[in-house]
Amino acid sequence: MRILVVNQEEVGRLLPMAECMEVMAEVLRSLGRGEALLPLRTIVHLPGGLGEFAVMPSYLARPAAIGLKAITVFPRNEGTAYDSHQGAVLLFDVEHGSLVALMDASSITAIRTAAVSGVATRLLAREDAADLAILGTGVQALTHLEAMLLARRVSRVRAWSRSRDNVARFVDAAARRFGVTVEAARDARAAVEGASLICTTTSAHQPILEGAWIAPGAHVNAVGSSIRTARELDSAAMKRAALFVDRRESAQAEAGDFLIPKAEGAFGDEHILGDLGDVLLARHPGRTASGQVTVFKSLGLSVEDVASAHHIHAAAVRGGLGTWIELGGERRP
Ligand code: NDP
Repeated sequence: MRILVVNQEEVGRLLPMAECMEVMAEVLRSLGRGEALLPLRTIVHLPGGLGEFAVMPSYLARPAAIGLKAITVFPRNEGTAYDSHQGAVLLFDVEHGSLVALMDASSITAIRTAAVSGVATRLLAREDAADLAILGTGVQALTHLEAMLLARRVSRVRAWSRSRDNVARFVDAAARRFGVTVEAARDARAAVEGASLICTTTSAHQPILEGAWIAPGAHVNAVGSSIRTARELDSAAMKRAALFVDRRESAQAEAGDFLIPKAEGAFGDEHILGDLGDVLLARHPGRTASGQVTVFKSLGLSVEDVASAHHIHAAAVRGGLGTWIELGGERRP
């Protein structure tokens, strides 16, 4: 049995953001139609504050694929040469259940997460939303900038994170990669004041965005917290929001942004208005008033990784990219 290995640089070439947004919209529709099987993530919390090891499997009927992402999340890697999210996505076929590909998970995670926020922004943000604030200046911040530039006609960008050096690096990278001028905000409040699009992409465990700071009509992609004990938005922000999620079952089990205010009594499960799939399938209208604050709470789903891997595999085979290795495994006569 031969498998295709696709490295980080190749994933970047084979999964352009605009294409990934189309792939994500399709897989979220598919999920909404019940054409996917996925359990909640299995997370091993590593001792001594090392970080987490997460395993995320799923099956997709359209496109037909089986796969999983195995990934470590090591917050201490921040500021080092190592990505805070590392691992692999494994893709299997549905004909014989054979392993067909192994791919870099850091780059898939960076691209597909922002692509889903791009889809959410197209669905939920006001058409005229053009004033973008990004909280956090790491890997997700940069891919989110790219996705927001595709989702809306952005005319102003402000960014904030705690370290001035990190903000300066982000300003530089945004200019080099996208030709965009980013204003370095002095604090999170100054970054979001009057903004119509806000992306929170930090590793913060305590709120960094307060409801009182959010302008009427803004859309927020809340991305950085994906465990039950961490949140980026305070309870007031979540309470005033028309709230949409990637998957209701996951949000109700894993999203600190939702679960912490719920535990405080701010609202119940009915506060979640729908999944992105509900809006994509026109089961929910999404935003219903121009002054409404919409929040997309992103957790990240295995189906997003597997659909990305399926797309990358097809493109790699077409374009002759990747490295084939012989794994063995056929039954010999
Ligand atoms: P990076 O390590 O590249 O960036 C983390 C960012 O968070 C940095 O800009 C850092 O900047 C900032 N930060 C760290 N701690 C704090 C804090 N206490 N308060 C405010 N800002 C802080 O990570 P990624 O960009 O890869 O990931 C960002 C977050 O997104 C992570 O929490 C990750 O788990 C989550 N994530 C969510 C996904 C999803 O599907 N929803 C998928 C992938 C990641 P500075 O130190 O300057 O403040």
